[in-house]
Amino acid sequence: MGFLDFGFVDLIDILLSAYLLYILYIKLKDTTAMNILAGILIVYVLWMVVKALDMSLMNTIMDRIASVGVLALVIVFQQEIRKFLLEMGNTSTFKRLFSLERIFQKVIKKSTEELNIPEIVNACTQFAKDYTGALMVFPNQSDLTSIVTTGEKLDCAITARLLGSLFFKNSPLHDGAVIIEQGKITAAKCILPLTQNPNVPSNIGTRHRSAIGMSEVSDSLVVVVSEERGEISYCEYGSICQDVTPAQLADKLKERFAVTETRSVISKRHFMARVLNFLKG
Ligand code: ATP
Ligand code: MG
Repeated sequence: MGFLDFGFVDLIDILLSAYLLYILYIKLKDTTAMNILAGILIVYVLWMVVKALDMSLMNTIMDRIASVGVLALVIVFQQEIRKFLLEMGNTSTFKRLFSLERIFQKVIKKSTEELNIPEIVNACTQFAKDYTGALMVFPNQSDLTSIVTTGEKLDCAITARLLGSLFFKNSPLHDGAVIIEQGKITAAKCILPLTQNPNVPSNIGTRHRSAIGMSEVSDSLVVVVSEERGEISYCEYGSICQDVTPAQLADKLKERFAVTETRSVISKRHFMARVLNFLKG
């Protein structure tokens, strides 16, 4: 009867395992990693067959493969693992759970308080009207030093006119991406990593591929305007949202960068109220 012992912990164990497998499936569904996972499953089944039939030579080979398997998995799935961890660190539930936002409030506040969203949206609206290609990277916590070094360092306030002249077709800095950090344009003409995802929409070229690639390897929001179609799109966590309206772009920028600003204003008010109460005795 031993195998019928089924406790509460076993139930939690099964539910958690099922949930983990479900998350894994959802995350890998449309990626090359799914094919790799299927390959691993086939090798695993083969290994079990080899074990059952007691084939000693094949068994030794399979054992050797399995011993380096975990390391190989980490290498093969490094993009997916990075993306998964980035997303985990950014979901509001997770943030609330561990109060990461509060812990990093100073850093987040610093990086968002001066982001001039209306100027960015105006610039993108104009680019879309004029069919001017543009690529802008807005990191949150990720360090983009290695990307900034591929381009020209700048230190300018964000204005639609400046962005317009940076992406103007004959400007020496118009190729590549502009990096916008801590409310400032910190670099232009930067080279971004291209996505290797084979499932990206077939109508897109290298500008959009590099936008998706950048959003895979960092927590950046990447905004791209198509020179061919005059469309605004944005990428985050390896996904692209194509042909958005200026209002949708503004909402996304606010969602990613202005919420904490509001919160920090609220917390400043709380702080001032506390100081006043303290002074009143
Ligand atoms: P569009 O819709 O604007 O035509 P696209 O996605 O079709 O964009 P391309 O037509 O190949 O892409 O755009 C080429 C331009 O994209 C280059 O001139 C350069 O400015 C930019 N670009 C291409 N690759 C990169 C990269 N790796 N990093 C940054 N910018 C890039
Ligand atoms: Mg093109």
